[in-house]
Amino acid sequence: MILQALLEETRSSLASHGVEEASLEADLLLMKAVGLNRSRLYSSPERPVTLEEREALGQDLARRLGGEPWPYICGYREFYGLNMAVSPGVFIPRPETELLVELALELARSLPSDRPIRIADVGTGSGAIAISLAAHLPQAVVYATDVSTRAIETARHNCQRHRLEGRVIVLEGNLLEPVPEAVDIVVSNSPYVPRAEIPHLPREVRFEPREALDGGLDGLEVVRSLIPQALAKLRRGGGLVVEISPTQRTEVCVLAGTMLPQGSFSLVKDLAGRERALLARVD
Ligand code: SAM
Ligand code: GLN
Repeated sequence: MILQALLEETRSSLASHGVEEASLEADLLLMKAVGLNRSRLYSSPERPVTLEEREALGQDLARRLGGEPWPYICGYREFYGLNMAVSPGVFIPRPETELLVELALELARSLPSDRPIRIADVGTGSGAIAISLAAHLPQAVVYATDVSTRAIETARHNCQRHRLEGRVIVLEGNLLEPVPEAVDIVVSNSPYVPRAEIPHLPREVRFEPREALDGGLDGLEVVRSLIPQALAKLRRGGGLVVEISPTQRTEVCVLAGTMLPQGSFSLVKDLAGRERALLARVD
């Protein structure tokens, strides 16, 4: 068989299983199986495909048709322009979470420049937020915590790949409990899906670890525990940035209103115009 024929076969197989971007995904599957970039793939349609390559493609295609997210199959996801290794058992970083990085960077740049910055990323998963912040703030030390051993291992691996293991300190444990000192910024994309909604999430999302999604009965249990811990750990002038679901903006406002001083917090919208982050400053 030649590349062109295998590409067409893969495309129609994906399309007949209802995969929306069948053409794009077929390209990605082929590129991985035969080890070519896209322009080489298209400039060599007559190239014969080996049996091993066909088998490798067959295995990946079966996983994809079973609904497994593509980043688990290819082993990585781009986040804030950086390549993050991911695998089953670890949450796949989302583009909307880049807003948290932007907000934390703004906070960091508003701090006095005469002392080193300390940041905590709570529920770090692959380490995506912690690593992006450390990469953009050469003067910062970032503590990254998670309760999942798989996440901790992956975050450490990603720190090494980006040569940031000296400034991103990955610690296993609950919320801010493992963080050994006061910090200037607490940032967190922690679980916020109401428990009863988990069975109704899209099939792909249900491949992700439950402890990455489960925000308890109302979806707010993690942030409810995090706010008092953050207030106890934040230095004066620092801030808290937490990802929220736009569908919970009213409940988040009520919660923040009872736990944070009046006027100290706001909700920030994402590029789609939906409230996506709770931002609070502490004096
Ligand atoms: N921050 C990463 C990102 O944006 O890609 C991962 C986000 S994922 C939605 C939430 C993460 O929080 C998971 O890795 C999960 O294991 C972790 N987690 C859940 N409960 C936690 C807790 N009590 N303390 C620390 N981490 C927790
Ligand atoms: N964004 C996730 C989703 O797709 C939820 C992430 C979270 O709970 N922090 O449902």
